[in-house]
Amino acid sequence: KLSGLPHHKGLDQFDFAFQPELDTRKVRDLAALEFVASHSNIALLGPPGVGKTHLAVALAVAAAGAGYSIYFTSLDEAVRQLRAAEQTGRFAKKLQTYLRPAVLVLDEVGYLPLDRAAANMVFQLISRRYERGSVILTSNKAFSEWGHVFADDVLATAILDRLLHHCHVLSINGPSYRLKDRASLAPSS
Ligand code: ADP
Ligand code: MG
Repeated sequence: KLSGLPHHKGLDQFDFAFQPELDTRKVRDLAALEFVASHSNIALLGPPGVGKTHLAVALAVAAAGAGYSIYFTSLDEAVRQLRAAEQTGRFAKKLQTYLRPAVLVLDEVGYLPLDRAAANMVFQLISRRYERGSVILTSNKAFSEWGHVFADDVLATAILDRLLHHCHVLSINGPSYRLKDRASLAPSS
């Protein structure tokens, strides 16, 4: 699939009415892609199923449609690739995969905790993209929990410092779309 995308769902397929606390206008503004031109980042935060990956893909697809290069990966897959490359002396070359695209989607940050070596790789990636290219990340963890995710508070702070300096943060705290048709599992209203 194009640039590793899991699907090609666009904003037109996102039901904003299902997520009333999400700022529709802010999302539509982001789709105008000024964030790409200004090398700013986007953080989509929230629990499973609220549409974080859908929105990240939609914004990346919009950027690709405007001629920007994009790359989609989960953070864990990027770490796996970088570790494997390091073992064969190809770390610097592999890192370029994640530095080259105008828009890098890092999906599922914080899904699994990283050890210090992996966290260091993520720091290198983020610090080298800082003010050079956009990152769209999704995470189910609040920034305050990133010390656990990145094995080390100092590293987590250094990563967050660079990510958040120019960053649009969207917290989505509504219901899971995956569970919407399962009345027994959905929160009652
Ligand atoms: P998350 O990444 O937050 O866990 P996803 O983006 O993978 O959630 O969404 C789960 C599924 O539900 C996907 O198939 C996605 O396209 C769909 N989905 C989520 N939110 C919406 C929404 N508001 N409107 C339409 N489809 C949605
Ligand atoms: Mg997701």
